Amino acid sequence: MRPILTTSPYALVSVGHASATILDHARPLEVEVVDALAAHGRTLAELIASGESVPAGPRSAVDGYALRGEDRGDRALVLREIVAGPDQGLVVGPGQAVRIMTGGILPDGADAVVMVEDTEERDGRVAILREVSPGGNVHQVGQDIAVGEVILPVGAALGPAEIGLLATVGRVRVGVYRRPRVAILATGDELVDPWETPPPGCIRDSNGYALAAAVRDSGGEPIWTGVARDDEEGLAAQVGEALAGADVLVTSGGVSMGTRDLVKPLLERLGTIHFGRVNFKPGKPLTFATIGGALAFGLPGFPVSSLVTFEVFVRPALLRMQGRPRVSRPRVEAELEHELRPDASRPEYQRAIVQWRDGRLVARTTGSQGSSRLLSMAGANALLEIQPSEHRIPAGSRVSVLLTGDLIAD
Ligand code: AMP
Ligand code: MG
Repeated sequence: MRPILTTSPYALVSVGHASATILDHARPLEVEVVDALAAHGRTLAELIASGESVPAGPRSAVDGYALRGEDRGDRALVLREIVAGPDQGLVVGPGQAVRIMTGGILPDGADAVVMVEDTEERDGRVAILREVSPGGNVHQVGQDIAVGEVILPVGAALGPAEIGLLATVGRVRVGVYRRPRVAILATGDELVDPWETPPPGCIRDSNGYALAAAVRDSGGEPIWTGVARDDEEGLAAQVGEALAGADVLVTSGGVSMGTRDLVKPLLERLGTIHFGRVNFKPGKPLTFATIGGALAFGLPGFPVSSLVTFEVFVRPALLRMQGRPRVSRPRVEAELEHELRPDASRPEYQRAIVQWRDGRLVARTTGSQGSSRLLSMAGANALLEIQPSEHRIPAGSRVSVLLTGDLIAD
């Protein structure tokens, strides 16, 4: 049992200081080469310049007739049609036209395409109802991508369009940053597994599940390391095991001022604690340490505190380790739908639902903001950044908002 402390030995640091300290220690991990298809959700670690022009040759943008844009009047039909696919080596002379489908390579001699809707074909001739100028309805060489053009920068987040671009230029293997391996360790004598019925005084470990999902959401690979009991030796052994092979350790619980809060002293013994308290609600006892090359986050035990501190402090670190240049959530302003009571002394991150309504963003609370009430996070897409004050904030006020999820349709 540790002695009872009445004041914390750790300085209370600001949110800004805590965030900057964490990002100072979070570096992009090594690069690995993966299939473009498997790179979805990853961050590009190399610059991609196209080795080719796209399209490589002039192509028809429509179904119609390829011809010389300067000619006028009916054209004699060249009797073979061009479909998308390999070049057929046709030649279109003056006064001639050839039937061509979208994507077909323009035949030699032709420089324009008349849409089929603007033509009438009969007896081997085509009447042109609406003439086009040279270049009309033609995709020119390199119109979409010029040869040598940089199509994706280092740090690009690879979504469907980016993956499609890699395929377009034939980059089927691509360098991306490795995903961080994140060991998750819940601590507490009171915890039982979620599938068990807790005896009196015990509760189910929900943080393990929630944090594993949060790690995945942030692009990391969660490593489940179970529950550690509140005894020094057992905790030390499990933390040691969890750290083997992990880039990041995330613990929950055991970081407050109680006699069984053993995480801080252990992190101190194993590595360097950079801060042990943040002027932040919910989650003041958040602790950040480095142990060898690994980052360690001691998150508070209350379910809301652990998820909100993960969102604000751990997620940016995981994104930075994946090579993302931008790791912050978008910060916007929204109008409060109702009055709100700030915390008297700490900046508070209140969970809310933000919607676009009648041309403006409006924010509605998710109800009681207690740290144990995980329902206050369910369905939330925003954290309201409420500065400390003795006074209520009236309905209609504009407040600063971190958008943590998609905007919800009205
Ligand atoms: P602690 O910081 O260890 O004192 O934990 C604070 C409170 O958070 C505990 O009293 C529990 O009610 C709750 N708690 C701690 N760990 C978990 C967990 N893994 N899952 C759900 N609730 C937890
Ligand atoms: Mg505990």
